[in-house]
Amino acid sequence: MTSENRTAKDWYSVLGAHPSDSQAELKQKYQKLALLYHPDKQHRDISSEQETDEAWKFIEISQAWKILGNEETKRAYDLQRRDGEMTRSFPVDNLIHLEEMTFEEDEAHYYYSCRCGGQYIAIESDLAQTSLVNCNSCSLIIEILQGSWR
Ligand SMILES: [Zn+2]
Repeated sequence: MTSENRTAKDWYSVLGAHPSDSQAELKQKYQKLALLYHPDKQHRDISSEQETDEAWKFIEISQAWKILGNEETKRAYDLQRRDGEMTRSFPVDNLIHLEEMTFEEDEAHYYYSCRCGGQYIAIESDLAQTSLVNCNSCSLIIEILQGSWR
């Protein structure tokens, strides 16, 4: 597992909780799971593989509570989470050099074909303001790189 995946971990879902849960609710959920997965509480007849899984689960639950059980780290995590959501709702599909786009002289715009069959259309004058262009038929966005072409 890459470190990227680790930072993207949803600590709320680890606790079976929701971001809107109160501190008391989070604590309750954590305690319930911690009891369930605590290594000392394993009296059931389970395979060592399952035991390892549950030990990992316990570590995850503890980590989730370490972050969400503290007001300061919880706030930092909530912010990070919101940033992540914003990035997801704003998917930059591709980085395109302006030179890769086709210039339509009559319309004075650049266009580039999207993989959905639609087109990214960038009006020349807009490119001074923004480098992000929406596909005209799907929700994908490309970022146009201007300047030196290497
Ligand atoms: Zn598209």
